[in-house]
Amino acid sequence: MMEEGVKEEARLCFYPFLSAASNYVEASGVTLDALITAAAFERARLRGKERVREAIREGAIRKPVIMRTAQAEMELLSYPFARILVSCIGNAHLVRRYALSEAKSAYNKLLEDSSTGASADTDIIYGMAQEFEIKIDLSRLPHEHVQVQMSFVDYLRFTSNLRDKRWKLVNRGLEKGQVKLRKGEFLRIIQEAIYARISKDMPLDVPAALCESIRKYTTDIEVELEERRKKFGDSGFETSSGFRVKDPSCFPPCITAILSNLKDGVNVPHTARFAVTAFLLNIGLTVDEIIEIYKNSPDFDEERTRYQVVHIAGESGSTKYTAPSCSTMRTYGNCVDSDDVCEKINHPLSYYKLKLKQKQKRKEEQQDKSKEKVKTEK
Ligand code: SF4
Repeated sequence: MMEEGVKEEARLCFYPFLSAASNYVEASGVTLDALITAAAFERARLRGKERVREAIREGAIRKPVIMRTAQAEMELLSYPFARILVSCIGNAHLVRRYALSEAKSAYNKLLEDSSTGASADTDIIYGMAQEFEIKIDLSRLPHEHVQVQMSFVDYLRFTSNLRDKRWKLVNRGLEKGQVKLRKGEFLRIIQEAIYARISKDMPLDVPAALCESIRKYTTDIEVELEERRKKFGDSGFETSSGFRVKDPSCFPPCITAILSNLKDGVNVPHTARFAVTAFLLNIGLTVDEIIEIYKNSPDFDEERTRYQVVHIAGESGSTKYTAPSCSTMRTYGNCVDSDDVCEKINHPLSYYKLKLKQKQKRKEEQQDKSKEKVKTEK
């Protein structure tokens, strides 16, 4: 049974980026030094480390069942410690992945907490609006649906990174400067606000000596990061069955850049999504493998993604698409980081084939040289 009076602490530990949460930590008198060194906070430190590892492995932060105040406090303190760990490691990919995992998990918890059917559901929505200084009006529609209205100025402030066309202001039915949203949509906007807040000062400017003193926590995380990098290749995108096509290191720079943005949870424009999807289908990845790659996207919706990928693959009876040429890529601003191989080709698929050929040739030359060496040594 939950200890009496623990409700507020439990709320704060599930949303540790709230100003009330940092005020709580400040008022508790726990110093940075104590958090880093005191034996009493070892549980918070271990949980902080686990937070980061969950972000790396799952792209989500687990929300534990909270029964006692002390447990809620450790959970709450694990958040600033996790931020310190991520900052000391200083890997830009980890910073984005961690911030996105925290924001996504908070969004899921918000959806859950505001769907109990109780009157407190709307308090949560008002609370978040107030936290991020968004003025809203709520109304109840039939079937208990909640509608949120916010000014288009705030709407634009928080949706600039959302690429899906349903977020475009022209598709929202603007009325007297107000945008109407379903509850889930409003909370999705709150996820953006949370992400912006968490990633704002990251990596934090942590003194080197402090980073050194917590090496025993960061080392395991760095090992895990490196293992994942090796497992999924340098382009680092994650498919459950691994790459059917062996060599992402031969991908053209434009495709590598798009994949890297997807991996980091950065929103990628439609034209780039189309290009990367068609490219990967053309070189033999399956629909499921491509869906896996999109899982990190801030706006990931499995059903929609599957529909789009299947359509590009031509499996739904439509035309099978070929990846766009370099000139089309240039037109849409998707040709980035071009290199000397790019000068010899006019299609990303030709780039890939040429690079594979060059690599194979180098390998054979190397093998010949080794054979020669063995012969002369004999
Ligand atoms: S030139 Fe072609 S292959 Fe090279 S980066 Fe641009 S679009 Fe990609």
